Amino acid sequence: MKFLYSDTQDYVDPEYDFLNDRAAPGRKRYWDDCYAHEMMTPAPYDGLLVSMSAIRQAEGVATSKVRYSTAEEQRLLRDGARRFLRYGGPKFRDAMLMGDCGAFAYVEHPKPAYSPAEVVEFYTEAGFTHGVSPDHIIFECDVSNPPASAMPPESLARYEITQANAREFIRLVKADDWPFEPMGAVQGWSPQSMAAAAVSLEKMGYRYLAIGGLVPLSVPVIHQVLQALRGAIKPETDIHLLGFAKADKIHEFTNYGITSFDSTSPLIRAFKDAKANYYLERPGGGIDYYAAVRIPQAIENARLMQGIKRGIFSAEDLQRREIKALNAIRSYDKGSVGLEDAMGALTDYQAFLTLGEKKSKETIEKELAKQVTLVRRTLEDKPWQQCGCDICRKAGVEVIIFRASNRNKRRGFHNLGVYHHHLQNTLENAR
Ligand SMILES: [Zn+2]
Repeated sequence: MKFLYSDTQDYVDPEYDFLNDRAAPGRKRYWDDCYAHEMMTPAPYDGLLVSMSAIRQAEGVATSKVRYSTAEEQRLLRDGARRFLRYGGPKFRDAMLMGDCGAFAYVEHPKPAYSPAEVVEFYTEAGFTHGVSPDHIIFECDVSNPPASAMPPESLARYEITQANAREFIRLVKADDWPFEPMGAVQGWSPQSMAAAAVSLEKMGYRYLAIGGLVPLSVPVIHQVLQALRGAIKPETDIHLLGFAKADKIHEFTNYGITSFDSTSPLIRAFKDAKANYYLERPGGGIDYYAAVRIPQAIENARLMQGIKRGIFSAEDLQRREIKALNAIRSYDKGSVGLEDAMGALTDYQAFLTLGEKKSKETIEKELAKQVTLVRRTLEDKPWQQCGCDICRKAGVEVIIFRASNRNKRRGFHNLGVYHHHLQNTLENAR
């Protein structure tokens, strides 16, 4: 089972100066920055997924999801995605490079943002090894398997659009002499309708199916979908799970003949999760999760700047505490400061940060107490010292500090590596 990371232009400055919080002199974003697969050996995933909606502006569709500039889009199509992502050469020659439409970007619209012809051309120019037919997300998944006649017209329309697009898409791929492996997108309103959609895609000629709409579904519902699907399709048909947010539960899904799945969650959780920011593989298998130590940059925090403006505290006071907190965790890492002293400095800064918050004293104290418990556990176990990955060896204690993109994304890269290794062990044990 291959783990693909869905690219969201995640790179870091390899020469970032942590002590002064400064980029390397003359650093050019993208050109000097490194993707996770450039910084880590082995690479922390088996392939990359790139969404067309992250790259190309579509007419009449909100722009918020587009991450690439026009120049970047042009370069990606001219040079090919493999070269653009610096994911080529002998090391990555066989790695999957998959394209999809990124259907979430146009989910509010009555029709997908791109036509099958436009998508085939885009995937071909990008040089993807695999490409998903343009689908339209159906949100509900009713495990009571209602018939089509009981469903709202909107859901049925999305089902029909996804099927019609898939038919046209594979016709174009065949006519072009298979420039990439086409993947048929499965959308449905229930496990049974998804199984029916999958069988229909097989009949069109698809050998690889991409199961969509899984993001909001619970683990038991995903099981029901996969049981229905596997029971209906050929054993040799490959399955990809699109946007599999329950990556931590992957060990439950080793029996469905899943060829590949993509997830961003190990990276995202490094800075979006309330407490599971740093992954550490347990010696006996499984993953332990640690909270990162929050030491936000005072001058980049809008709320703190408000506090300074409104005279609630002074900028000097704030920065002094920030520096104290940073020094404390670095000294603790070296062993020159004890746990209680380090906790003292960190808690002091944390408490200071809550000044000017429009919450009751009780709420603030509760939140602080929670933070203290989480941070204490992280400091006691020092997980960053236990990891030997390329990121942690080079960044050291900085990787556990929750602070701006260069630390937070590094922690995300590390999580991808831990997750990838954990997945490989899980698959090995399942054999
Ligand atoms: Zn690491």
